[in-house]
Amino acid sequence: MQKRKLIIIGSGPAGYTAAIYASRANLQPLLYEGFFSGPAGGQLMTTTEVENYPGFPEGVEGPELMSRCRKQAERFGTEIVTEDVKSVDLSSRPFKVIGSKTQAEAEALIIATGATAKRLDIEGTRDGEFWQKGVTACAVCDGAAPIFRNQDLFVIGGGDSACEEAIFLTKYGKKVYIVHRRDELRASKIMAERATKHPKIEVIWDHVIVKVEGDTIVRNITLQDVKTKKEHKRAAGGVFFAIGFNPNTDFLNGQLALEENRYLKVTPGSTTTSVEGVFAAGDVADHMYRQAVSAAGSGCMAALDAERWLSAKGLID
Ligand SMILES: Cc1cc2nc3c(=O)[nH]c(=O)nc-3n(C[C@H](O)[C@H](O)[C@H](O)COP(=O)(O)OP(=O)(O)OC[C@H]3O[C@@H](n4cnc5c(N)ncnc54)[C@H](O)[C@@H]3O)c2cc1C
Repeated sequence: MQKRKLIIIGSGPAGYTAAIYASRANLQPLLYEGFFSGPAGGQLMTTTEVENYPGFPEGVEGPELMSRCRKQAERFGTEIVTEDVKSVDLSSRPFKVIGSKTQAEAEALIIATGATAKRLDIEGTRDGEFWQKGVTACAVCDGAAPIFRNQDLFVIGGGDSACEEAIFLTKYGKKVYIVHRRDELRASKIMAERATKHPKIEVIWDHVIVKVEGDTIVRNITLQDVKTKKEHKRAAGGVFFAIGFNPNTDFLNGQLALEENRYLKVTPGSTTTSVEGVFAAGDVADHMYRQAVSAAGSGCMAALDAERWLSAKGLID
């Protein structure tokens, strides 16, 4: 069994940044990058152009950015294990990490397992269809892309995030439609009012999108009235899922305190969790910002917090 000072779980911008800092501090971390849990490299592996990550004025492809982060982590001595972590045992020290094939022990852990955007299984929206060719799950990330400019954009959802994403998209779209399967939004009153009163937003009540079509990018959607089952086609430039995220915290089996929405609870302004020596970084502990650069920033914080904690406990020189 491998024994380390620090194990990092997760391989998105948060995990890799934590690995870069921890390995440069000579902690020789082990990083579980995942396998079935999602693409190693995290959510950016599912996107094309990233235009808001500092240092890339011309933009950078998501997979290219993550491959560079991975190399940078390895350059300083991070060892990467291509496995999912099935569970952890935080009941005794050192902590135990149980991977799908291997097991390891560490004095400190950084949890950087991210979150998974919820999507519906609608024809035309799947990977290899129009996913990332006009269908996405992040308006803030992708809304400014030229393909969405001055187009009719459709947001799927009815909660606060759907309203927020729709309002954001009004900067770019000709008109933004919130497609909601009920006759009332679930969003807070204030968000619902802001969205429904916006001159560029219209809610399509009692409807669902049943099909997305196009050529190289999205061109049309088919809407279905949930009551009459009648369908009609509409021109569309983009479809945005805004139905929430699942933070990847199940494998922790309740050993760390979670927020009500199942995101990891951290002490505000730091990355410390409810168990001493376990730190959290990135989207798994952040339902507010959910951006690559904020995930990377908190990965840096987690590595520094872990190093300081290990040093204060006399576990490193
Ligand atoms: C379609 C899309 C486009 C986006 N575009 C942008 C953009 O342009 N700009 C921007 O700033 N942000 C963008 N984002 C948001 C950004 O991708 C996330 O904020 C960021 O990736 C979060 O990083 P993270 O390291 O916290 O987690 P993630 O990127 O979610 O990575 C977590 C990693 O942990 C792994 N993992 C999960 N569970 C386990 C386990 N049990 N064991 C081992 N590994 C595990 C997963 O496989 C994954 O690799 C986009 C998101 C999406 C979905």
